[in-house]
Amino acid sequence: MSADGPRFVIHRHDASSLHFDVRLEIGGVLVSWAVPKGPSTDPRQRRLAERTDDHPLDYADYEGRIEEGRYGAGTVIVWDTGTYDNLSEEPVADALADGHVKVWLHGRKLDGGYLLQRTRLGGDERSWLMVKLDDEGADRRRNPAVTEPGSVLSGRRNEDL
Ligand code: MN
Repeated sequence: MSADGPRFVIHRHDASSLHFDVRLEIGGVLVSWAVPKGPSTDPRQRRLAERTDDHPLDYADYEGRIEEGRYGAGTVIVWDTGTYDNLSEEPVADALADGHVKVWLHGRKLDGGYLLQRTRLGGDERSWLMVKLDDEGADRRRNPAVTEPGSVLSGRRNEDL
């Protein structure tokens, strides 16, 4: 457990299409992936993850409504947050550059190991997959991305904003 380790946050972002923005604090920014179906607790599920722009650290607690006409217009809640441990042998920034990030998320909804793996599907550098590692945090019956839609900070749902 690492109460003061680097942070992670997963925003539930109801924009032109619903997705989950998975963000890891690496090198002073929130390195980010958009995961349409959200993270799974089932190691058999591979979730498409599109690498998106880094965000500033102070965006980690953001919840609110992004106005029409602006990029990402829609609503954002903090679906899960906490700290993470790097499970790689190498520093997480190097693992990121290598396209193979393995972390343990200490969240409220997610507690366990996850792999983010670059696939370059169709030659797209931003194309990654997010997969639950098969550890004690794995649970094939849970589906928190669907059954636990609310914010861990405020209890609000996207439609409340
Ligand atoms: Mn987003």
